[in-house]
Amino acid sequence: MNDIMINQLQEKYQLSLMWLLSAVAILGVFPFAVMRYLERNFTAAIIDIVLVIGLLVLVAYAHQSKNIRLVSAILAVFINAGVVAIVIANGMDSFLWVYPVFASTFILVKPIEAFGINLAAGICLLTLSDIFSTISLSSYVVTILMLSLSTFVYTSHSEKQFKLLETLNTVDALTGALNRRALSSDIKSVISTSQRDNTRPLLALLDLDHFKSVNDQYGHAAGDQVLQHFVALIKSNIRQHDQLYRFGGEEFVLLIHQIHDQHHTFINNLRSAINKDLKTPDGKEITVSIGVALWTPVTTEDAWLKRADKALYLAKAQGRDRAIFSESHEQHHTADPASLL
Ligand code: GH3
Ligand code: MG
Ligand code: MG
Repeated sequence: MNDIMINQLQEKYQLSLMWLLSAVAILGVFPFAVMRYLERNFTAAIIDIVLVIGLLVLVAYAHQSKNIRLVSAILAVFINAGVVAIVIANGMDSFLWVYPVFASTFILVKPIEAFGINLAAGICLLTLSDIFSTISLSSYVVTILMLSLSTFVYTSHSEKQFKLLETLNTVDALTGALNRRALSSDIKSVISTSQRDNTRPLLALLDLDHFKSVNDQYGHAAGDQVLQHFVALIKSNIRQHDQLYRFGGEEFVLLIHQIHDQHHTFINNLRSAINKDLKTPDGKEITVSIGVALWTPVTTEDAWLKRADKALYLAKAQGRDRAIFSESHEQHHTADPASLL
Protein backbone atom coordinates (compact mmCIF):
# COMPACT_ATOMS: atom_id res chain seq x y z
CA MET A 1 0.00 0.00 0.00
CA ASN A 2 1.04 3.50 -0.58
CA ASP A 3 2.92 5.41 2.11
CA ILE A 4 1.26 8.74 1.56
CA MET A 5 -2.26 7.60 2.23
CA ILE A 6 -1.35 5.21 5.00
CA ASN A 7 -2.78 5.94 8.42
CA GLN A 8 -4.62 9.10 7.48
CA LEU A 9 -7.56 7.79 9.45
CA GLN A 10 -5.35 7.00 12.40
CA GLU A 11 -3.89 10.49 12.24
CA LYS A 12 -7.38 11.96 12.47
CA TYR A 13 -7.92 9.87 15.55
CA GLN A 14 -4.64 11.11 17.03
CA LEU A 15 -5.54 14.71 16.24
CA SER A 16 -8.85 14.35 18.09
CA LEU A 17 -6.97 13.02 21.10
CA MET A 18 -4.63 15.99 20.90
CA TRP A 19 -7.60 18.34 21.10
CA LEU A 20 -8.80 16.40 24.12
CA LEU A 21 -5.34 16.62 25.71
CA SER A 22 -5.30 20.40 25.15
CA ALA A 23 -8.70 20.66 26.82
CA VAL A 24 -7.48 18.52 29.72
CA ALA A 25 -4.35 20.67 29.99
CA ILE A 26 -6.36 23.89 30.20
CA LEU A 27 -9.41 22.73 32.15
CA GLY A 28 -8.01 19.78 34.08
CA VAL A 29 -4.36 20.49 34.89
CA PHE A 30 -4.15 24.28 34.94
CA PRO A 31 -6.59 24.70 37.90
CA PHE A 32 -4.44 22.18 39.81
CA ALA A 33 -1.35 24.27 39.06
CA VAL A 34 -3.07 27.29 40.61
CA MET A 35 -4.25 25.20 43.56
CA ARG A 36 -0.77 23.79 44.21
CA TYR A 37 0.68 27.27 44.01
CA LEU A 38 -1.84 28.54 46.58
CA GLU A 39 -1.03 25.53 48.76
CA ARG A 40 2.63 26.61 48.40
CA ASN A 41 3.45 23.21 46.86
CA PHE A 42 5.77 24.86 44.31
CA THR A 43 7.35 21.71 42.87
CA ALA A 44 3.93 20.32 41.94
CA ALA A 45 2.81 23.73 40.63
CA ILE A 46 5.88 23.95 38.38
CA ILE A 47 5.43 20.39 37.07
CA ASP A 48 1.77 21.16 36.30
CA ILE A 49 2.66 24.38 34.48
CA VAL A 50 5.39 22.62 32.47
CA LEU A 51 2.81 19.95 31.55
CA VAL A 52 0.23 22.52 30.45
CA ILE A 53 2.70 24.54 28.37
CA GLY A 54 4.38 21.41 26.93
CA LEU A 55 1.03 19.91 25.90
CA LEU A 56 -0.20 23.10 24.28
CA VAL A 57 3.07 23.70 22.42
CA LEU A 58 3.20 20.11 21.13
CA VAL A 59 -0.43 20.12 19.99
CA ALA A 60 0.00 23.47 18.24
CA TYR A 61 3.17 22.13 16.59
CA ALA A 62 1.34 18.99 15.42
CA HIS A 63 -1.28 21.13 13.70
CA GLN A 64 1.25 23.38 12.12
CA SER A 65 3.89 20.86 11.03
CA LYS A 66 1.45 18.13 9.98
CA ASN A 67 4.02 15.66 11.27
CA ILE A 68 1.43 14.09 13.51
CA ARG A 69 3.24 10.79 13.93
CA LEU A 70 6.38 12.35 15.36
CA VAL A 71 4.52 14.76 17.64
CA SER A 72 2.28 11.92 18.84
CA ALA A 73 5.33 9.90 19.85
CA ILE A 74 6.86 12.88 21.70
CA LEU A 75 3.49 13.55 23.38
CA ALA A 76 3.23 9.93 24.50
CA VAL A 77 6.61 10.06 26.21
CA PHE A 78 5.89 13.56 27.57
CA ILE A 79 2.59 12.72 29.28
CA ASN A 80 4.02 9.52 30.77
CA ALA A 81 7.09 11.35 32.09
CA GLY A 82 4.75 14.08 33.36
CA VAL A 83 2.56 11.70 35.29
CA VAL A 84 5.59 9.99 36.83
CA ALA A 85 7.00 13.39 37.89
CA ILE A 86 3.72 14.60 39.38
CA VAL A 87 3.12 11.38 41.32
CA ILE A 88 6.66 11.47 42.70
CA ALA A 89 6.23 15.14 43.70
CA ASN A 90 2.68 15.00 44.90
CA GLY A 91 2.09 11.41 45.98
CA MET A 92 -1.34 9.82 46.35
CA ASP A 93 -3.17 13.00 45.47
CA SER A 94 -2.10 12.77 41.80
CA PHE A 95 -1.97 9.00 41.50
CA LEU A 96 -5.28 8.56 39.65
CA TRP A 97 -3.88 10.46 36.64
CA VAL A 98 -1.81 7.34 35.88
CA TYR A 99 -4.85 5.53 34.47
CA PRO A 100 -6.08 8.00 31.84
CA VAL A 101 -2.50 8.80 30.82
CA PHE A 102 -1.64 5.12 30.34
CA ALA A 103 -4.81 4.58 28.28
CA SER A 104 -4.22 7.69 26.12
CA THR A 105 -0.71 6.48 25.26
CA PHE A 106 -2.28 3.73 23.16
CA ILE A 107 -3.94 6.25 20.86
CA LEU A 108 -0.74 8.20 20.35
CA VAL A 109 1.66 5.40 19.38
CA LYS A 110 1.53 1.81 18.16
CA PRO A 111 0.11 -0.63 20.74
CA ILE A 112 3.41 -2.38 21.32
CA GLU A 113 5.26 0.94 21.74
CA ALA A 114 2.56 2.18 24.12
CA PHE A 115 2.89 -0.98 26.16
CA GLY A 116 6.65 -0.41 26.38
CA ILE A 117 6.26 3.24 27.41
CA ASN A 118 3.65 2.31 30.04
CA LEU A 119 5.88 -0.42 31.37
CA ALA A 120 8.81 1.99 31.71
CA ALA A 121 6.61 4.61 33.44
CA GLY A 122 5.07 1.94 35.68
CA ILE A 123 8.50 0.71 36.78
CA CYS A 124 9.68 4.30 37.41
CA LEU A 125 6.66 4.82 39.67
CA LEU A 126 7.38 1.59 41.50
CA THR A 127 10.99 2.47 42.16
CA LEU A 128 10.88 6.25 42.54
CA SER A 129 7.63 7.14 44.29
CA ASP A 130 6.60 6.42 47.85
CA ILE A 131 2.89 5.86 47.18
CA PHE A 132 3.23 2.15 47.84
CA SER A 133 3.41 2.85 51.51
CA THR A 134 -0.25 3.91 51.15
CA ILE A 135 -1.65 1.67 48.42
CA SER A 136 -1.16 -2.01 47.96
CA LEU A 137 1.53 -2.91 45.45
CA SER A 138 -0.39 -5.92 44.16
CA SER A 139 -3.55 -3.87 43.43
CA TYR A 140 -1.40 -1.37 41.58
CA VAL A 141 0.29 -4.05 39.46
CA VAL A 142 -2.95 -5.91 38.72
CA THR A 143 -5.05 -2.85 37.85
CA ILE A 144 -2.36 -1.21 35.74
CA LEU A 145 -1.69 -4.49 33.87
CA MET A 146 -5.43 -4.98 33.36
CA LEU A 147 -5.77 -1.49 31.90
CA SER A 148 -2.69 -1.73 29.67
CA LEU A 149 -3.42 -5.23 28.40
CA SER A 150 -7.09 -4.59 27.62
CA THR A 151 -6.23 -1.31 25.85
CA PHE A 152 -3.45 -3.17 24.04
CA VAL A 153 -5.89 -5.80 22.74
CA TYR A 154 -8.47 -3.18 21.76
CA THR A 155 -6.03 -0.88 19.96
CA SER A 156 -4.28 -3.78 18.19
CA HIS A 157 -7.63 -4.74 16.69
CA SER A 158 -8.48 -1.21 15.76
CA GLU A 159 -5.05 -0.78 14.13
CA LYS A 160 -5.85 -3.75 11.89
CA GLN A 161 -9.26 -2.28 11.12
CA PHE A 162 -7.71 1.08 10.24
CA LYS A 163 -5.37 -0.67 7.80
CA LEU A 164 -8.23 -2.62 6.24
CA LEU A 165 -10.35 0.52 5.89
CA GLU A 166 -7.43 2.34 4.33
CA THR A 167 -6.98 -0.50 1.82
CA LEU A 168 -10.68 -0.58 0.98
CA ASN A 169 -10.59 3.16 0.60
CA THR A 170 -7.55 3.39 -1.67
CA VAL A 171 -7.05 0.14 -3.57
CA ASP A 172 -8.93 -1.03 -6.67
CA ALA A 173 -10.44 -4.43 -5.87
CA LEU A 174 -9.98 -6.01 -9.32
CA THR A 175 -6.39 -5.10 -10.11
CA GLY A 176 -4.78 -4.15 -6.79
CA ALA A 177 -3.67 -0.84 -8.30
CA LEU A 178 -4.44 2.25 -6.23
CA ASN A 179 -7.76 3.90 -6.99
CA ARG A 180 -8.75 7.35 -8.12
CA ARG A 181 -9.29 8.65 -4.60
CA ALA A 182 -5.68 7.78 -3.74
CA LEU A 183 -4.52 9.41 -6.98
CA SER A 184 -6.12 12.71 -6.18
CA SER A 185 -4.61 12.85 -2.73
CA ASP A 186 -1.16 11.69 -3.94
CA ILE A 187 -1.02 14.15 -6.86
CA LYS A 188 -1.55 17.03 -4.45
CA SER A 189 1.19 15.76 -2.21
CA VAL A 190 3.59 15.16 -5.14
CA ILE A 191 2.94 18.71 -6.38
CA SER A 192 3.72 20.22 -3.00
CA THR A 193 6.86 18.05 -2.56
CA SER A 194 7.99 19.17 -5.97
CA GLN A 195 7.53 22.84 -5.11
CA ARG A 196 9.36 22.39 -1.82
CA ASP A 197 12.25 20.12 -2.85
CA ASN A 198 12.55 20.92 -6.54
CA THR A 199 11.94 17.32 -7.57
CA ARG A 200 10.74 16.61 -11.11
CA PRO A 201 7.84 14.20 -11.08
CA LEU A 202 6.14 12.72 -14.11
CA LEU A 203 2.58 11.65 -14.74
CA ALA A 204 1.66 9.17 -17.47
CA LEU A 205 -1.80 8.17 -18.60
CA LEU A 206 -1.90 4.64 -20.01
CA ASP A 207 -4.86 3.32 -21.99
CA LEU A 208 -5.06 -0.18 -23.44
CA ASP A 209 -5.65 -0.20 -27.19
CA HIS A 210 -8.89 -1.62 -28.59
CA PHE A 211 -9.72 -3.16 -25.27
CA LYS A 212 -13.42 -3.30 -26.08
CA SER A 213 -12.69 -5.86 -28.75
CA VAL A 214 -10.75 -8.01 -26.23
CA ASN A 215 -13.93 -8.11 -24.15
CA ASP A 216 -16.10 -8.72 -27.22
CA GLN A 217 -13.96 -11.59 -28.50
CA TYR A 218 -12.89 -13.36 -25.31
CA GLY A 219 -15.48 -12.29 -22.75
CA HIS A 220 -15.45 -9.94 -19.80
CA ALA A 221 -13.69 -12.42 -17.46
CA ALA A 222 -10.76 -12.72 -19.88
CA GLY A 223 -10.71 -8.91 -20.10
CA ASP A 224 -10.49 -8.74 -16.32
CA GLN A 225 -7.51 -11.11 -16.33
CA VAL A 226 -5.76 -8.96 -18.91
CA LEU A 227 -6.24 -5.92 -16.66
CA GLN A 228 -4.78 -7.83 -13.70
CA HIS A 229 -1.82 -9.00 -15.74
CA PHE A 230 -1.29 -5.46 -17.05
CA VAL A 231 -1.05 -4.08 -13.51
CA ALA A 232 1.31 -6.86 -12.42
CA LEU A 233 3.55 -6.14 -15.43
CA ILE A 234 3.73 -2.40 -14.76
CA LYS A 235 4.37 -2.94 -11.05
CA SER A 236 7.28 -5.25 -11.80
CA ASN A 237 8.82 -2.59 -14.05
CA ILE A 238 8.61 0.46 -11.79
CA ARG A 239 10.49 1.48 -8.65
CA GLN A 240 9.09 1.15 -5.16
CA HIS A 241 8.13 4.80 -4.78
CA ASP A 242 6.43 5.07 -8.15
CA GLN A 243 2.74 4.34 -8.05
CA LEU A 244 0.12 2.98 -10.42
CA TYR A 245 -3.53 4.02 -10.15
CA ARG A 246 -6.61 2.76 -11.94
CA PHE A 247 -8.12 5.91 -13.38
CA GLY A 248 -11.20 4.11 -14.65
CA GLY A 249 -11.99 1.14 -16.95
CA GLU A 250 -8.82 0.24 -18.85
CA GLU A 251 -7.12 3.55 -18.19
CA PHE A 252 -4.33 3.89 -15.64
CA VAL A 253 -2.13 6.65 -14.23
CA LEU A 254 1.53 6.15 -13.46
CA LEU A 255 3.01 8.67 -11.04
CA ILE A 256 6.81 8.80 -10.99
CA HIS A 257 8.00 10.86 -8.04
CA GLN A 258 11.39 11.80 -9.44
CA ILE A 259 12.36 11.29 -13.07
CA HIS A 260 15.80 10.40 -14.29
CA ASP A 261 17.43 11.58 -17.51
CA GLN A 262 16.30 8.57 -19.50
CA HIS A 263 12.57 8.97 -18.89
CA HIS A 264 11.82 8.64 -22.63
CA THR A 265 13.64 5.32 -22.72
CA PHE A 266 12.02 4.22 -19.47
CA ILE A 267 8.49 4.85 -20.77
CA ASN A 268 9.22 3.22 -24.11
CA ASN A 269 10.75 0.18 -22.39
CA LEU A 270 7.62 -0.08 -20.30
CA ARG A 271 5.55 -0.03 -23.47
CA SER A 272 7.74 -2.71 -25.08
CA ALA A 273 7.49 -4.90 -21.98
CA ILE A 274 3.71 -4.73 -22.26
CA ASN A 275 3.73 -5.46 -25.98
CA LYS A 276 5.93 -8.46 -25.34
CA ASP A 277 4.11 -9.98 -22.37
CA LEU A 278 0.50 -8.81 -22.41
CA LYS A 279 -1.50 -11.22 -24.57
CA THR A 280 -5.08 -12.23 -25.33
CA PRO A 281 -6.00 -15.80 -24.23
CA ASP A 282 -5.00 -17.08 -27.71
CA GLY A 283 -1.65 -15.28 -27.63
CA LYS A 284 -2.35 -12.13 -29.65
CA GLU A 285 -0.47 -9.00 -28.71
CA ILE A 286 -2.21 -6.28 -26.70
CA THR A 287 -0.75 -2.79 -27.00
CA VAL A 288 -0.99 0.34 -24.93
CA SER A 289 -0.99 4.07 -25.71
CA ILE A 290 0.68 6.44 -23.28
CA GLY A 291 0.35 10.19 -22.74
CA VAL A 292 3.18 11.56 -20.62
CA ALA A 293 3.27 14.93 -18.85
CA LEU A 294 6.31 16.14 -16.96
CA TRP A 295 5.50 18.39 -14.06
CA THR A 296 5.79 22.13 -14.73
CA PRO A 297 6.32 24.62 -11.90
CA VAL A 298 2.83 26.12 -11.95
CA THR A 299 0.82 22.97 -12.65
CA THR A 300 -2.36 22.20 -10.78
CA GLU A 301 -3.72 18.68 -10.45
CA ASP A 302 -6.29 19.30 -13.20
CA ALA A 303 -3.91 20.97 -15.62
CA TRP A 304 -1.33 18.22 -15.19
CA LEU A 305 -3.87 15.47 -15.89
CA LYS A 306 -5.24 17.44 -18.83
CA ARG A 307 -1.78 17.65 -20.45
CA ALA A 308 -1.32 13.90 -20.06
CA ASP A 309 -4.81 13.36 -21.49
CA LYS A 310 -4.05 15.54 -24.50
CA ALA A 311 -0.84 13.59 -25.12
CA LEU A 312 -2.76 10.32 -24.83
CA TYR A 313 -5.35 11.59 -27.30
CA LEU A 314 -2.55 12.32 -29.77
CA ALA A 315 -1.02 8.87 -29.20
CA LYS A 316 -4.39 7.31 -30.06
CA ALA A 317 -4.91 9.61 -33.07
CA GLN A 318 -1.44 8.84 -34.44
CA GLY A 319 -2.20 5.12 -34.59
CA ARG A 320 -1.95 3.84 -30.95
CA ASP A 321 0.87 1.62 -29.54
CA ARG A 322 3.05 4.66 -28.77
CA ALA A 323 3.98 7.22 -26.13
CA ILE A 324 3.64 10.96 -26.64
CA PHE A 325 5.49 13.34 -24.31
CA SER A 326 4.19 16.69 -23.22
CA GLU A 327 7.36 18.28 -21.87
CA SER A 328 7.74 21.10 -19.37
CA HIS A 329 8.20 24.60 -20.78
CA GLU A 330 11.85 24.90 -19.80
CA GLN A 331 12.65 21.83 -21.88
CA HIS A 332 10.93 23.13 -24.97
CA HIS A 333 14.14 24.66 -26.23
CA THR A 334 16.37 21.66 -25.75
CA ALA A 335 14.36 18.53 -26.45
CA ASP A 336 13.42 17.07 -29.80
CA PRO A 337 10.57 19.30 -31.05
CA ALA A 338 8.95 16.43 -32.93
CA SER A 339 8.05 14.64 -29.70
CA LEU A 340 6.75 17.73 -27.94
CA LEU A 341 3.35 19.26 -27.55
P1 GH3 B 1 -9.06 2.68 -27.65
O1 GH3 B 1 -7.94 2.03 -28.34
O2 GH3 B 1 -9.55 3.89 -28.36
O3 GH3 B 1 -8.75 2.99 -26.22
O4 GH3 B 1 -10.27 1.63 -27.69
P2 GH3 B 1 -10.90 0.85 -26.48
O5 GH3 B 1 -11.77 -0.21 -27.05
O6 GH3 B 1 -9.84 0.40 -25.54
O7 GH3 B 1 -11.68 2.02 -25.76
P3 GH3 B 1 -13.15 2.14 -25.24
O8 GH3 B 1 -13.10 3.30 -24.28
O9 GH3 B 1 -14.11 2.22 -26.37
O10 GH3 B 1 -13.45 0.84 -24.44
C1 GH3 B 1 -12.94 0.56 -23.20
C2 GH3 B 1 -13.44 -0.79 -22.83
O11 GH3 B 1 -12.92 -1.21 -21.57
C3 GH3 B 1 -14.94 -0.85 -22.70
C4 GH3 B 1 -15.20 -1.61 -21.46
O12 GH3 B 1 -16.05 -2.69 -21.67
C5 GH3 B 1 -13.85 -2.12 -21.03
N1 GH3 B 1 -13.72 -2.16 -19.59
C6 GH3 B 1 -13.77 -1.14 -18.71
N2 GH3 B 1 -13.63 -1.57 -17.45
C7 GH3 B 1 -13.51 -2.92 -17.51
C8 GH3 B 1 -13.34 -3.95 -16.53
O13 GH3 B 1 -13.28 -3.72 -15.33
N3 GH3 B 1 -13.25 -5.23 -16.97
C9 GH3 B 1 -13.30 -5.52 -18.31
N4 GH3 B 1 -13.18 -6.79 -18.67
N5 GH3 B 1 -13.46 -4.58 -19.25
C10 GH3 B 1 -13.56 -3.29 -18.87
MG1 MG C 1 -8.65 1.84 -24.57
MG1 MG D 1 -10.24 4.19 -22.35
